[in-house]
Amino acid sequence: MKKKYDFDLFTIGAGSGGVRASRFAANLGVKVAIAEKASLGGTCVNVGCIPKKLFSYAAHMREEFDDTVGYGWSIKEADFNWARLVENKNIEIERLNKIYQNLLENPGVKILPDHATIVGPHEVSVGGHVYSADRILIATGGEPFIPQFPGNEHVYSSNEAFFLKELPKKVLVVGGGYIATEFAGIFNGLGCETTQIYRGAMFLRGFDLDARVFLSDEMRNKGVNLEFNNDISAIEKNADGLHVKLKDGQMIKTDSVMYATGRKPLTSNLGLDSCGVKTDPANAVIVDSNYQTNVESIYAIGDVTNRVNLTPVALAEGMALVAHLYSDRSRPVSYENIPCAVFSQPNLACVGYTEESARQNFSEISIFKSSFRALKNTLSGNAEKTLMKLVVNKANDRVIGAHMVGPDAGESIQGLAIALKAGATKAMFDSTIGIHPTSGEEWVTMREPSS
Ligand code: FAD
Ligand code: NDP
Repeated sequence: MKKKYDFDLFTIGAGSGGVRASRFAANLGVKVAIAEKASLGGTCVNVGCIPKKLFSYAAHMREEFDDTVGYGWSIKEADFNWARLVENKNIEIERLNKIYQNLLENPGVKILPDHATIVGPHEVSVGGHVYSADRILIATGGEPFIPQFPGNEHVYSSNEAFFLKELPKKVLVVGGGYIATEFAGIFNGLGCETTQIYRGAMFLRGFDLDARVFLSDEMRNKGVNLEFNNDISAIEKNADGLHVKLKDGQMIKTDSVMYATGRKPLTSNLGLDSCGVKTDPANAVIVDSNYQTNVESIYAIGDVTNRVNLTPVALAEGMALVAHLYSDRSRPVSYENIPCAVFSQPNLACVGYTEESARQNFSEISIFKSSFRALKNTLSGNAEKTLMKLVVNKANDRVIGAHMVGPDAGESIQGLAIALKAGATKAMFDSTIGIHPTSGEEWVTMREPSS
């Protein structure tokens, strides 16, 4: 008997969520096709987490050269080659693209390297051919948002920042979120004269205020010019560079302006209207707790749903969806206590409640804080300091928030995230033996609350 559909599952978008869902489904014997209009691996692999972290390592290394002197090393003047960094990064990304291809092809996923448009509840058009599928999965991610203003054609987003032909001598980075803060650190570390402009009073809105202020001080100490409560009103391109007019009337001359003012779900040219898939005012696809849209056969996961826009969340949603649809084991995503890190210089990472959100949600909390100069920075002379902070619910002694600004903060917070998930109390932290000498031992030796 002829099968009713060409595929059981048709995934649009081979990014973090789409690849994970497709290969897990194929491993269970599901017949899967995946369409990708750009490169396999999506945002994270090609223009997101991975190249960003590689650039971040490169930027951090400048400081490490300086740090070695106090430890007895003499290093001839370091010389940085941007073109070599970009080229090596590209080679590594191509290697990852091939790994993604194998991850999909080995379990039998059919890859269609083209733009896909939904043309019916069970139909997807790719490259002029219409394929039918029992279910369609939208995993198209997001794209950078750049506001309208005179001269915005002269700016670029993170997508282009990864491929700049030359490293600018002077750069303005606009935005106060993850990407702007990470790139301000990258450009500054690589030796650019860097200004980060944010429209509000303190960047990284939503993160713990102490951590934000602490990071801003550290970034200023490292040479980033932080320009808060300001914004760009217009840009003119002249023979001597870009003339940038700020809202407070200042004029700044610069080589380059990067915008990182958020991302929007990628739902344009997707054919959502063809079968009435509902979106919210931000154009995010609306789904229920099983990632199903208002059209029974169509599902969506990851950034296109604009909920928690992080790779590990898209991966978890992909696995949860496949378990729900094709196995008898459910694997729901827990959206509580999702740890995260801003790969700024230094890193900021956290899990759980900020002090501000805890004060709103719990009747009594205690705050434990420690800020110190790490042992490594004694001989190096590096002035960088580290902040660690715990938020505790007094009613049951549970640690409900952990925040850190300092080297490899994400590595430290990843471990604490398990403790918070497990419901660890402050007494359990206190009874845990530290590892000496580490910065991490501070987590278990903060005895007196600061408030
Ligand atoms: P994506 O990974 O965006 O994949 C969507 C794919 O769909 C893309 O490949 C796109 O080309 C394709 N597509 C879109 N429309 C169509 C169509 N019509 N037809 C065919 N293909 C289509 N997250 C972290 O957890 N840690 C980090 O350090 C981190 N750093 C980041 C740094 C930057 C600069 C950026 C931009 C993002 C970063 N993120 C990070 C976020 C992370 O990249 C995303 O949350 C994640 O990639 C979302 O996965 P996704 O599967 O939803 O979408
Ligand atoms: P964010 O949402 O983190 O930050 C956007 C920033 O732009 C905010 O400071 C916002 O200000 C500002 N902004 C928004 N609109 C305007 C405007 N019209 N004019 C001026 N400023 C504006 O977005 P990003 O682009 O930095 O990153 C997108 C998402 O990607 C992140 O939210 C995160 O989910 C993910 N990501 C994760 C990373 C990680 O895990 N390390 C790294 C990079 C990205 P305000 O706060 O005032 O609204």
